[in-house]
Amino acid sequence: MTDFEGIDEIVENANAVQLVFHVRRDWLADADAAYDEVRRKADACRRFLVSPAFKERFGMKPGSLMMKASRQPPADVMEEMARLGADVMVGNLPFLGETAAPTANCMICGRAGFQPNLMSMTDHGLTCPTCFNAWSMRANSTSFGSSYGLSSWQWARIVIAVSVLFIGFMLRVCT
Ligand SMILES: [Zn+2]
Repeated sequence: MTDFEGIDEIVENANAVQLVFHVRRDWLADADAAYDEVRRKADACRRFLVSPAFKERFGMKPGSLMMKASRQPPADVMEEMARLGADVMVGNLPFLGETAAPTANCMICGRAGFQPNLMSMTDHGLTCPTCFNAWSMRANSTSFGSSYGLSSWQWARIVIAVSVLFIGFMLRVCT
């Protein structure tokens, strides 16, 4: 959501500004409302694009429109968007009435927005795939370390070997 009625996102990068509006309605079952929404929001974006407020906020950066839609828009809407020079992105927006799938935060890197079924449990809590890989590699290397490290039995053998050499050396010195 932005301060501007009808504009759902404003995406600004170093060179340009994109005004994004969402249409989450069904183009067939809810056609009137969907067409009304796309017209209203596209108008609002275009008005803002040519307004002094846009120039004041973004200077000389060129602006463009993007529609994000829950469902593939019909051909006439696609044509209209092409005429406006608007990009169209379909499918990454939950359909109206559906809630977005719950997402979780990674307990290691803190990034948000992961699907819980893609996450893995570690001793830090739920983690994203990247952190889980790093964590499991660390866990493996730790267990390698303990299995290839010196156990108490190996230490005992070293102590015995050194003692034998020492005794042998002492015997040679003393005789
Ligand atoms: Zn992470």
